[in-house]
Amino acid sequence: MTATIMDGKATAEKIRAGIKAEVTNLKVKPGLAAVLAGKNPASQVYVEIKRKTCDDVGIYSELYKLPEETTEKELLQLIDKLNKSEKIHGILVQLPLPKHINEEKVLEAIALEKDVDGFSLVNVGRLASGREAAVPCTPKGVIRLLEEYSIDLAGKNAVVIGRSNIVGKPTALLLLNRNATVTICHSKTADLPHYTKKADILIAAVGKPKLVTADMVKEGAVVIDVGINRIDGKLIGDVDFEPVRKKAAYITPVPGGVGPMTVAMLIENTLERYKKITGAK
Ligand code: NDP
Repeated sequence: MTATIMDGKATAEKIRAGIKAEVTNLKVKPGLAAVLAGKNPASQVYVEIKRKTCDDVGIYSELYKLPEETTEKELLQLIDKLNKSEKIHGILVQLPLPKHINEEKVLEAIALEKDVDGFSLVNVGRLASGREAAVPCTPKGVIRLLEEYSIDLAGKNAVVIGRSNIVGKPTALLLLNRNATVTICHSKTADLPHYTKKADILIAAVGKPKLVTADMVKEGAVVIDVGINRIDGKLIGDVDFEPVRKKAAYITPVPGGVGPMTVAMLIENTLERYKKITGAK
């Protein structure tokens, strides 16, 4: 078997085109503010991609690049200003924040209606209780890609490797809300292959290059690789792509899989927040 490659780039492009068409017709444009504190190189790249995508689809954007030494108070003051701004409908704080800043406090300071990443405790609670509102972009992108390829989730064994608040846990909840039977694995899981070999749908969100090898994958599985690892200047995922491709039915590439979907979901969430705030249809 050679897996069908799930083309996140093409799917994201289609979603972006739809959003662009919708935004063109709006008199007042949706606005997204991105806040970056510190010098994390990957974060620098991500916020630039997000800004460019906003430009491409006609979403107004503001990018705040703050120095590493920014205090929590200064950051909270900026969030307060953005909460009040009429031009801004979505606020995203690029994680991770510098160590001296309390991430939870900052995320909770974002006005609920502008919580474009869905990281606030209220939105996490909504997701956990099956009432999805603002849904985190990467997990939402994973689900959208599965839908795009008509992958049936109900009753399937889904295994998520990784339990972070921004990827693993919300992805598991979204799968559960769609009636998959979900197992979450993490660094303390004893005998990871025992679980992955049973997965009809396997999601790797770890950040360890080629952690998932072909012997860990069930014949005909759907394999979604969220991982982004930089090795010798190249991006690779958490899945050993070529050997796993020979065994799986579907697989996402890195790059060109979940990454572009994440950005597409961010602008979709911005448009959703805009509609919620302005009452636009
Ligand atoms: P975190 O570091 O926050 O979480 C990693 C998770 O993997 C943890 O739950 C950890 O377990 C688990 N883990 C670590 N080692 C192992 C192991 N050997 N076996 C099983 N589980 C393990 O990362 P994120 O969730 O933020 O991101 C995960 C990956 O996804 C990264 O490569 C990141 O760059 C990428 N990413 C990609 C995005 C995209 O758009 N494509 C967006 C966001 C992230 P424990 O909890 O026990 O420590």
